[in-house]
Amino acid sequence: MEGMSTPSGDTKTQTPAPRLDQDDHERFAHYVIGGGEAITRSMVTGEPVTALCGKIWVPSRDPERFPVCPTCEGIKKEQGW
Ligand SMILES: [Zn+2]
Repeated sequence: MEGMSTPSGDTKTQTPAPRLDQDDHERFAHYVIGGGEAITRSMVTGEPVTALCGKIWVPSRDPERFPVCPTCEGIKKEQGW
């Protein structure tokens, strides 16, 4: 027997898209670094915003009906906003 076929090294590396927390931050209204301008820009560009507490997400709905994130509020008071 001649001509041994070599298996082609066809390995695809699949990198899953980074997942943002989509659950617990939805229950709170966070203070976004950059304020309303940052939120507006994020909705236009699709880039995530960062909250004072470190949450990173893409705002998709009006957060005003949620209670304010206690972590954000504490940081905000500390910084004297
Ligand atoms: Zn927060």
